[in-house]
Amino acid sequence: MVKTLYACSVCGYIYEKKEDAEKCEAYCRKHNACSLAITSLAVGNISK
Ligand SMILES: [Zn+2]
Repeated sequence: MVKTLYACSVCGYIYEKKEDAEKCEAYCRKHNACSLAITSLAVGNISK
């Protein structure tokens, strides 16, 4: 079974839950930076 993952299109962090990716994206857009509380939930990063 393939797991669907969701990436923040701003910072490139990958999340298992769509809502976490959306939270990250909203935060990144607003603050132009990532929230550590949110990125600690990330399972990976596509930019590296
Ligand atoms: Zn982000």
